Amino acid sequence: EKAAETHEFQAEVRQLLDLMIHSLYSNREIFLRELVSNAADAADRLRFEALQDKGLLEADPDPRVSIAVDTEGRTITISDNGIGMNREDVIDNLGTIARSGTRRFLDAMTGDQKQDAQLIGQFGVGFYSAFIVADEVTVHTRRAGEGADQGVLWRSDGKGAFSLEALPREARGTAVTLHLAEGQDEFLDRNRLRQIVRRYSDHIALPIELEDEQGEAETVNQASALWMRPKSEITDEAYRQFYQQLSYDPEPPLEWIHNKVEGNQSYTSLLFIPAQRPFDLFEPDASQGLRLYVRRVFIMEDKDSRLLPRYLRFVRGLVDSDDLPLNVSRELLQHNKLIDRIRGASVKRVLDTLERMARDDPERYARFWEAFGTVLKEGPVEDPGNAEKVAGLLRFHSTHGDGGSNVGLADYISRMHEGQKAIYYLTGESLAAVRNSPHLEVFRQRNIEVLLLAEPVDEWLVAHLNEFDATPLQSVAKGDLEIDDLGGADDGTTEPPETSESVEALIGRVGDALGDRVSAVRASSRLTDSPACIVVGEHEFGLNMQRMLKAAGH
Ligand code: ADP
Ligand code: MG
Repeated sequence: EKAAETHEFQAEVRQLLDLMIHSLYSNREIFLRELVSNAADAADRLRFEALQDKGLLEADPDPRVSIAVDTEGRTITISDNGIGMNREDVIDNLGTIARSGTRRFLDAMTGDQKQDAQLIGQFGVGFYSAFIVADEVTVHTRRAGEGADQGVLWRSDGKGAFSLEALPREARGTAVTLHLAEGQDEFLDRNRLRQIVRRYSDHIALPIELEDEQGEAETVNQASALWMRPKSEITDEAYRQFYQQLSYDPEPPLEWIHNKVEGNQSYTSLLFIPAQRPFDLFEPDASQGLRLYVRRVFIMEDKDSRLLPRYLRFVRGLVDSDDLPLNVSRELLQHNKLIDRIRGASVKRVLDTLERMARDDPERYARFWEAFGTVLKEGPVEDPGNAEKVAGLLRFHSTHGDGGSNVGLADYISRMHEGQKAIYYLTGESLAAVRNSPHLEVFRQRNIEVLLLAEPVDEWLVAHLNEFDATPLQSVAKGDLEIDDLGGADDGTTEPPETSESVEALIGRVGDALGDRVSAVRASSRLTDSPACIVVGEHEFGLNMQRMLKAAGH
């Protein structure tokens, strides 16, 4: 047998350990949530791999997590019969190699202990929370399908290094033992442990057992898949807790949508609309979306499942299908009629729910819009089939609003002047720039509302959204404005464009000076105060879009 060998923690891991111990101290009980969730993940992964290879289940097919306390030795052990780890896995996952979440967690820490305690689950650094309460942690593990002699023992005091040695292990899976630090004896109390498991891990869908001194096990969580229970039996509090366990978001969700569909195909979906943005909403590999289960077996992470389009990536939750094959692969998901139908129905449920929220509870909808409006604006581009429905949910700043981003296209249409033919908008780099644009002058004068669009995504939106409710959208900065077609009451101060000789001469001089940098110089009734403005052709990109394309290297 080889002797124990020592490895240094990678520098960022050391920094993380240090910070975590000090900054999460007042929420230290979350170590149990993290270790239990790792054990449950390990069980899920085993079930999934066992679909291909039944042998992995050995003689112990029922997944379970157990928590045992040794009062005299002052240790707690969390063990599972999940997938386990071999030597390489241990080194990769618990030590030297930089896991992408480590750096990002360090950057994202807010200093607010409660907030940070939630964050740690999002960043894949939960294991290290054991060191908040322990002065030594050992991990004894053996990967499913490998021989008992392939067992590995990892040991660390969390100070800067860990040791590894071979140690045979009969049982498949992992046992994590925490030797409690001075002053942490409260965690030897079973009542305390039971309370923590119920608070954080009640809806983990496998039994979490607490052993007593005689080794008798008591299941302390609900251990059933919440989404399979009848809606009438699930309290709001249970939904909220489930959401927290799923998302690590400390804010309760704005709304949830729980459906059981039977018929041609049967599935259950449970979708949540969060109240605040996750840190990675705009990162390409963000972990948002829906999890896929098949007959209660966890199949695929949110970001791989393609159960919702990108513009609804803020929705969290799951779909549990009765009809998909258990060995469903990513490729299969891409062209699968069942999945397409689930996806279509889920999109409709989310959009309908948002419509209802916007109508019945505008304040709550305003919170939603603040957090996720920018993402929803990708909708008409990505999902032309639902463009009109999504467009109805969009909210904008406007010359006629109260200054907030809360004017919908339907509001706009209901306020249009008689004879007005289009929904007018202006895009620009910033709200201030747009508000002060000379293009608005004639609209102000005639009291015609103009939507003010200052987010980068707005350019793409208006490039794809040509009309709403059969009314065209038109930029006030493009093409010829036929002043008489604008609608709205002339307040009597509009003067017809002068075409006297002196103006003709001025136009000629300006045209000569600008040369082929412009295609034309014209007198216009667009302006009331400013002497001149730049206008682009009806079918050209707007100036702001041109600026963006240039900045992006086009
Ligand atoms: P995360 O769970 O978000 O990946 P953690 O820090 O909690 O981050 O765990 C790191 C990794 O260690 C896990 O991804 C997993 O590969 C491995 N691991 C931790 N606990 C277990 C366990 N009980 N069984 C198998 N693997 C585990
Ligand atoms: Mg974890």
